[in-house]
Amino acid sequence: MIGFKKSPIKIVLGLFFVSIIFIILLYVDSVINKPVPIEEISITEDFNKSLPKVKNTLFHEVKKGDSLSVIFEEKEIPLNTAYKIFNFDENNLLSSIKPGDKMEFNYVNEDIVNIEIIKDKINSILIDLSDGVSIQKLEKKIQNIKSFKKGIISSSFYQDALKVGMPDSIIMDFAYIFGWDIDFIFDVRKGDQFSVIFETDYSEGEQISSGDIIFAEFINKGERFIVQRFFDDIQGKQYFDENGNNVRKAFLRAPLDFAYISSHFNPNRMHPILHKIKAHNGVDYAAKRNTPVQASGDGIISFVGEKGGYGRTVEIKHGGNIKTLYAHLERFNSRAKVGSKVKQGEIIGYVGDSGWATGPHLHFEFWQGRKRTDPVKVKLPSAKPINKNQLESFENTLSLNLKELNEYNSKQNG
Ligand SMILES: [Zn+2]
Repeated sequence: MIGFKKSPIKIVLGLFFVSIIFIILLYVDSVINKPVPIEEISITEDFNKSLPKVKNTLFHEVKKGDSLSVIFEEKEIPLNTAYKIFNFDENNLLSSIKPGDKMEFNYVNEDIVNIEIIKDKINSILIDLSDGVSIQKLEKKIQNIKSFKKGIISSSFYQDALKVGMPDSIIMDFAYIFGWDIDFIFDVRKGDQFSVIFETDYSEGEQISSGDIIFAEFINKGERFIVQRFFDDIQGKQYFDENGNNVRKAFLRAPLDFAYISSHFNPNRMHPILHKIKAHNGVDYAAKRNTPVQASGDGIISFVGEKGGYGRTVEIKHGGNIKTLYAHLERFNSRAKVGSKVKQGEIIGYVGDSGWATGPHLHFEFWQGRKRTDPVKVKLPSAKPINKNQLESFENTLSLNLKELNEYNSKQNG
């Protein structure tokens, strides 16, 4: 009954609004379900606007015989871009490209934006193609960071040095530098102390050098050893003790690594092949065939060739009327020629068993004048001391380093 009381106008209006709403709903539905436009252009335009930029890098390592134009072709750099690059290289920066250089081709979406030629950890060449062409040399800034480490021996130098955070290469250098005076296998004792100042190069947060010892101290069985790096005008980088003496000896006691003594210097030895008493006037180092043999000291090669029972042999004449001899070699270094200069540590040949030898080993002799001495026991002369003109500057650096080390030590203890 209530409905009948409503006026017919209200009913008409109500129906009108309902139908309007219905029409609106239909319209909205049609808009939502509108079929995708077919025109391709409008799709790609929307597509490009909505997609984020996709960066992509292609890598290439320059090989022997590679040229930039061949590399550009391989990487499908458009011809006109390649042409522009060569045209813009006014300073001939691109001609320095060489095997081993690393190249990065950087793209945003499909477009190449730059090419970087990385020469080493510091230097590179950037070909910027984002706005025309520009070619420039880039040089990363190097930050040199100084580090201090110290420790006490409780098990072995290597283990205890690792424990205090000394990097591997610094541990090796430390053992090598002090190794001229201290045998790190037999001489090191519990309670021995070591400290080191070293520097490492960083570029953009990345370590780019394995580190270099500036100053080091080792207290071995109560005896204090100090070494300091110094750039000698004549000898180059060297390590000297506090008096400016070179810590390096003029001769390597053993002219090869990874070997053990298989026969000592012995004037009354029974010869293993001849089976009669025959003096052994050298030291035999057993080592794997082809282990590199180094020049024991700086000198001039005085003999290369076959020498009876010695087999393939090299002799080096050194200062102070000293001569060293290396026998039973498998082969020679091709650069080892009579009259050529050699530096300590340079490879002159390789371990073998030529001549009268029962197995691969190096027979090493140390001559002083006309007399052979035991290379294991002979007191080796030191390498050249510091250039006298630089002694004062050396001493100043030394006192600075000692001061820095003391400050570091007191901070550690406080
Ligand atoms: Zn021998």
